[in-house]
Amino acid sequence: MWDIDDTIVAASTAAGSAARAIVRITGGDTWAIVVRTFLAAAPLPHQPRRGRWQGTFKFPAVETGVAAELLVWARPRSFTGQDLAEIHVPGSPVIVDAVVSRILAEGARLAQPGEFTLRAFLAGKLDLDQVEGLLGVVHARDRDTLQSALDQLAGGIAQPLRQVREHLLDLLADVEASLDFAEEDLTFLTARQTQDQIDRLRQQLQQTRDRMADRRWNRPAFRVVFAGRPNAGKSSLFNALAGRSLALVDAEAGTTRDYLVHHAEWDGRFIELVDTAGVEALPRSPEREIVAQAQAKREAQLDQADLVLLCVERDLALTAAEAELRRRESDRIIVVRTKADLMPSDSAVLSNNPESLTSAVTGLGVESLRREIIRRASVDSRSESMTVTAISEACLDRAM
Ligand code: GDP
Repeated sequence: MWDIDDTIVAASTAAGSAARAIVRITGGDTWAIVVRTFLAAAPLPHQPRRGRWQGTFKFPAVETGVAAELLVWARPRSFTGQDLAEIHVPGSPVIVDAVVSRILAEGARLAQPGEFTLRAFLAGKLDLDQVEGLLGVVHARDRDTLQSALDQLAGGIAQPLRQVREHLLDLLADVEASLDFAEEDLTFLTARQTQDQIDRLRQQLQQTRDRMADRRWNRPAFRVVFAGRPNAGKSSLFNALAGRSLALVDAEAGTTRDYLVHHAEWDGRFIELVDTAGVEALPRSPEREIVAQAQAKREAQLDQADLVLLCVERDLALTAAEAELRRRESDRIIVVRTKADLMPSDSAVLSNNPESLTSAVTGLGVESLRREIIRRASVDSRSESMTVTAISEACLDRAM
């Protein structure tokens, strides 16, 4: 029996010489192995977190390495629910073998076929239909098998829909025949029977629609986390983007103690907006513990963000910590200038800056920020299949 806590490794591109090959590692020792084998151009963090680093995969025996890119997803927001790393190397079978061997030597074991998928299933990232679909794709030997595996992966909806379609065509034939032979003494379906059948088919469509909706919300959304000092205008911007008043907005600094999540679907992309507690100096009062807890939660949210909106009021300078955050997370952070309505019109930030300018009061910049979030979510590979789901759902709605 497999141990699902083992750290496993597999080359996940097809055999042969593609331009780039991917070696994937998952399990508890992933990060330790990465740190020992990957020399990043910029220093790696102490703890695993989602990110992308350029560098060299090292082969100590030959005192050399190969240029590589490292992609990391920290638990639990990864495909397998465990720490997961991908090492992208030139697609030469010799290099791929060498990389895999090195990782095996560091204590990982070779993944069995389907083992990454099994972990994803056990972590609740996939349902059984999707697992069967995925395994089907992995093992499909011919075109038809592949097609049905892909159908299943798309949500197991192709088959029920095909049945509904055939049933409707039969019904249509009956109705047309009863019109053609209206004069003759033949019995066809009565209007009542026809209506009953249509109602039943509509119910089947509704069930399929419900199944898709269930599945949709089980998928990881593109997570957008608000960060910034207390009173920076995070909650107000959160509400402006969410389109309704959810977060507590208060003029007193530090009122958002915990975090709030708003699920949205923008242009068929699933977005999760997360409003976090402000970065606060720890007070000496009994509240200290609560604030510390809120900050710890905020840190965890930031780590798991696909995109961070760092809110900075008007034209205030960034603090050292904010500047450091922007530098460290440059590929997944947007510095959002809030309260632009309070800025003098001759402000240097207003006239000349690449950052996003917003006002929750006038609505300035909120729409373009939303578009930018959608754009980034679209580049994110996970949104592909979700878009397909959204289109399918819209078609089903029309059919009912
Ligand atoms: P948070 O602590 O970062 O969540 O900040 P809030 O959203 O609670 O806002 C702090 C204060 O700034 C509140 O009094 C808001 O009404 C005010 N505020 C927030 N956004 C704007 C804005 O765009 N323009 C103006 N004039 N005031 C704002």
